[in-house]
Amino acid sequence: MSKEKEIKKILVSACLLGDNCKYDGGNNYHQELMEFLSDKVVIKVCPEILGGLGVPRVPCEIQGDKVVNKNGEDKTYYFTKGALETVKIALTEQVHFAIIKSNSPSCGSDMVYDGSFANRLVPGEGFTAHMLKMNGIKVYTENDLEEIKKIF
Ligand code: SF4
Repeated sequence: MSKEKEIKKILVSACLLGDNCKYDGGNNYHQELMEFLSDKVVIKVCPEILGGLGVPRVPCEIQGDKVVNKNGEDKTYYFTKGALETVKIALTEQVHFAIIKSNSPSCGSDMVYDGSFANRLVPGEGFTAHMLKMNGIKVYTENDLEEIKKIF
């Protein structure tokens, strides 16, 4: 008996798709992810842009319950706004799940930089990843692609 394949709708970090929205004006283009997404509906988001930050921007890291940039300025407002906007889009679009960029103070879902700007990762999650999970949306990163392929 043939089973019709359901088309998945997936929320994806814009930088993984090649958008130059990283803090330094670059991207995190991921060829294998692009191939996986080729027969799916992609909802593209960059939470930091949605939150009102520009490109390029001073890099930010999480310090406690705040996000600060390398100049010591508090950018929590923008990260919170970006997370809220992203969740709004995810819920409106009824995405099946999210694939968002690892280690980012917005998109990182299991590791983030430790707030010292010394390139040190610690267990933790970005503002957007946290808020997506709180709203019942399953979050993966580009590093989970092999696992995702087995499930979907
Ligand atoms: Fe990529 Fe997310 Fe950072 Fe935007 S906020 S550049 S989508 S990791």
